[in-house]
Amino acid sequence: MSFRVFRGLLKYQRNFKMKLCLIFGDQLNPNHSWFKTVDDNVLYVMMEVRQETDYVMHHIQKVLAFFAAMREFAKQLRKKGHQVHYIKLDDSGNTQSIPENLTKLIHNNNITRFEYQIPDEYRLDQQIRQFCESLSIPSEALDTEHFLSSRNDVADHFKDKKQYLLESFYRMMRKRYAILIDNDQPVGGKWNFDVQNRQRYDGKVPVPEPIMFQNDVRDLKQLLQKMNVKTFGFADEDPLIWPINHQQAQQVLLYFTVHCLPYFGTYEDAMTKQYWSLFHSRLSFTLNTKMLHPLEAIEAAIHAWEQNKACISLPQIEGFVRQILGWREYMRGVYWAQMPKYKEMNFFENSRKLPHYYWDGDTKLQCLRYAIGQSLKYAYAHHIQRLMITGNFALLAGIHPDEVDAWYLGVYIDAIEWVEITNTRGMSQFADGGLVATKPYVSSANYIQKMSDYCRGCHYDPKKKYGDRACPFNGLYWSFYDRHRDKLANNPRIGMMYRILDRFSDEERKKILEQANWYLENIEDL
Ligand SMILES: Cc1cc2nc3c(=O)[nH]c(=O)nc-3n(C[C@H](O)[C@H](O)[C@H](O)COP(=O)(O)OP(=O)(O)OC[C@H]3O[C@@H](n4cnc5c(N)ncnc54)[C@H](O)[C@@H]3O)c2cc1C
Ligand code: SF4
Repeated sequence: MSFRVFRGLLKYQRNFKMKLCLIFGDQLNPNHSWFKTVDDNVLYVMMEVRQETDYVMHHIQKVLAFFAAMREFAKQLRKKGHQVHYIKLDDSGNTQSIPENLTKLIHNNNITRFEYQIPDEYRLDQQIRQFCESLSIPSEALDTEHFLSSRNDVADHFKDKKQYLLESFYRMMRKRYAILIDNDQPVGGKWNFDVQNRQRYDGKVPVPEPIMFQNDVRDLKQLLQKMNVKTFGFADEDPLIWPINHQQAQQVLLYFTVHCLPYFGTYEDAMTKQYWSLFHSRLSFTLNTKMLHPLEAIEAAIHAWEQNKACISLPQIEGFVRQILGWREYMRGVYWAQMPKYKEMNFFENSRKLPHYYWDGDTKLQCLRYAIGQSLKYAYAHHIQRLMITGNFALLAGIHPDEVDAWYLGVYIDAIEWVEITNTRGMSQFADGGLVATKPYVSSANYIQKMSDYCRGCHYDPKKKYGDRACPFNGLYWSFYDRHRDKLANNPRIGMMYRILDRFSDEERKKILEQANWYLENIEDL
């Protein structure tokens, strides 16, 4: 126990008024107003608990990165003079439950007031509210001061609408923050530069090495082993490559603005065997743990663009702003507008289990092998790999959204339910019936071949719809449309696919669908 905490505890025993402030593991915002002044009557509490390591099985790097970043944060708060009570996973008094640890702390130390920052996950929100109701001391929930919109902004913006169109929310946010806005109009005369962006990676521009850290997490690895925390994925490389404090987050941001931003939009949707993060920022972990503020990221990128318009074109910066000011804020709003019912949605009534290769990467489908392989290696895949490879296959194969969610929530370094479930169940699996996406994000091998080099050297043939080694994406694509005709045929964005399907001869359609069925029956062996 540090001297400050000891001094603090002595104070409660002498019945001073003492406030306990809870910091959740994803609330590592060093600039929160809580920390502006040092107050001896405030005790911050942070805790590593089995409740959080076990609610889903996580990638080992994700658990290591969260614990390492939490420990760093506690260290930095103490350095600034704040009192922090940090409960480690193997501390003898750790009950492994957030409310139970809080109850003990409050009772044993004459705490007279309890405060917390609102959690981003519904499950934690419910838990902490119930806990506060049971308290006999006053409690208060404060804002995290992190997001650029409120929990209810999306619900209010789309009141009574059946579909939540990102574009409309994004434009409102651009105006609200006057970002890339000139006289109430978008800079460059257009809100959206997607047509210029999203090219295949052609090798003409060198891809920068991703910035990686050497954070020592040996103690934490031993801790997880000692406590038998069940994880998956690899942590072969001893040091943790992910940033664990604000300073490291800023380095990733700077590296991104200098080396990746000039081609961010252009190759946003490209995929290649050679580079696992291409020109993506890899900022999601720092943003979602609140080490980095979204405005800090946006302003740094805009500053870089303003300083260097010769190298960074408007479509690049607009593409980046759209992701953070648009998609990220929008997904959070969708979450709070739709939970808890969102977690039950299963529009296509899918029921299959996720095949083993999502967990071990052992498959002949080369695109899946690469996307899953790098996810297991780095706890990271970029957006289009998540959407158009792993997500696409899961939807075509009819995997139950609970299975898909559990995997995405566990595997990615940045996965926290508010942003995972809206992307997975909503955008990728269309389980919400089209609230987020205007049509299902599915494709045959054609798209994957166009946007990547995965098909080269694959066991399967991307051109074949049936027959020996026909690419499973092809048969499954048509079988998906065939089996969901009643749910999709009236969607104006999909009608074209049914016209193509209906132009196949009966014999050809039969062969395609038979092949797809065979693949589904033998899904574990693909
Ligand atoms: C099926 C699926 C599951 C996903 N699960 C998560 C998740 O658990 N956590 C998560 O943060 N993102 C998730 N995403 C969104 C996106 O894929 C990641 O934010 C992104 O890949 C993170 O890498 P990056 O930081 O290099 O992003 P970049 O491509 O560099 O984008 C910059 C930032 O924009 C934000 N962003 C971009 N796209 C989205 C989006 N669709 N929704 C919300 N924010 C976005 C992120 O904060 C990201 O860091 C998911 C997407 C899909 C299709
Ligand atoms: S041929 Fe099919 S399975 Fe192989 S990489 Fe291409 S899309 Fe993936």
